[in-house]
Amino acid sequence: MTAPHPLVTRARRLADDLLAPHAEQVDQREVPVSHLAEIRRSGLLGLNAPREYGGAAAPGAVVRETAEILAGACCSTWFVQTQHHTPVLTLAGSEAPVRDRLLGRLATGELLSGVAYAHVRAYPRVPVRVTRERTGRRFDGTVPWYTGWGLNDVLLLAGVTDADEVLFAFAEAREQPGLRASAPMRLAALTAARTVSLELDGLWLPEEAVALRAPHDRWAAADRLRTLNANPAVFGLTEAALTLLDEDTAAPLRARLAEVRRRSYALIDGAAPHEHPAERLALRTRAYGVMQAATTAAVVAGGGRTMLLANKAQRLAREALFLMVQGQTAESRTAHLDALTA
Ligand SMILES: Cc1cc2nc3c(=O)[nH]c(=O)nc-3n(C[C@H](O)[C@H](O)[C@H](O)COP(=O)(O)OP(=O)(O)OC[C@H]3O[C@@H](n4cnc5c(N)ncnc54)[C@H](O)[C@@H]3O)c2cc1C
Repeated sequence: MTAPHPLVTRARRLADDLLAPHAEQVDQREVPVSHLAEIRRSGLLGLNAPREYGGAAAPGAVVRETAEILAGACCSTWFVQTQHHTPVLTLAGSEAPVRDRLLGRLATGELLSGVAYAHVRAYPRVPVRVTRERTGRRFDGTVPWYTGWGLNDVLLLAGVTDADEVLFAFAEAREQPGLRASAPMRLAALTAARTVSLELDGLWLPEEAVALRAPHDRWAAADRLRTLNANPAVFGLTEAALTLLDEDTAAPLRARLAEVRRRSYALIDGAAPHEHPAERLALRTRAYGVMQAATTAAVVAGGGRTMLLANKAQRLAREALFLMVQGQTAESRTAHLDALTA
């Protein structure tokens, strides 16, 4: 057996020593800055960043395992830090000058980034419009969901231009002329992750802030492939729920989890991203099914006391609801609803 990757070891230590012991408390309040300080220090924010920028350029299997570990320990903390990986990957694939300005600082955890782009998937509806203004870009519209407000330093913001291009640019994650945030939303789960909506009313960003510009069609075709696969966080949360069950109850669910996970990851590693889309979606949907069964079983097994807000089983069941809509697209929603009504 080979030794685990150092970032897997670090994620496990953070999960066991810090995240899991405080997860119920965090769930009822907000992700503490001290949790994020440990994440920044751990090197996990550089998982996907190139080595020459101070990152780990970790293999996909390591990225998935660390996500499982963090999400199973404290879904709110996992969710705040997972936003950071999209900006890192965007910069890693960018040739724009902003790459050299920010990638190293994001890779080492000096800066923590959030991202606001799910709304671009609603195209041809354009919740955020980008227009040229002077030597930069102006953003107008509403971002319905932005996680980590007040916790992260920078924000990768996406909108659509008049030429039907998707444009991503970095801004400072704080109120400024043209950018106003709602109060953090009170949600059924992950209130602790400080999710807000953002009102953009002429937010101006210089051209040097732009990280990505691409025709919408081309961007959407690549983005679609990212939302077909099962989310490792779903497997991590399911494992956490299984620890609350006795072995006889857990065993069949554990077997289902292992099979769905093995097949999902085999497709991710063994086939080109555009191959087998229907099977990927079916596995994504089956992963939700196992998670729902495991979290529900944890509530049933725990009885009345699971209704206490300090109880782990109900927290996991609420977080499972959230994971079922996070990153949901029209396509994945249809696949999930079809499976639920079959
Ligand atoms: C607590 C929370 C925090 C979140 N934080 C973030 C964040 O930090 N950053 C971020 O980018 N996102 C964030 N999201 C968004 C999240 O990923 C989306 O919830 C998810 O993608 C589903 O989006 P929705 O429910 O808003 O969209 P819905 O309106 O339900 O749309 C779902 C899908 O339907 C399709 N669709 C919708 N409207 C149209 C239309 N008019 N025409 C064509 N197709 C359409 C699109 O494929 C779309 O993706 C967060 C969500 C939640 C619940």
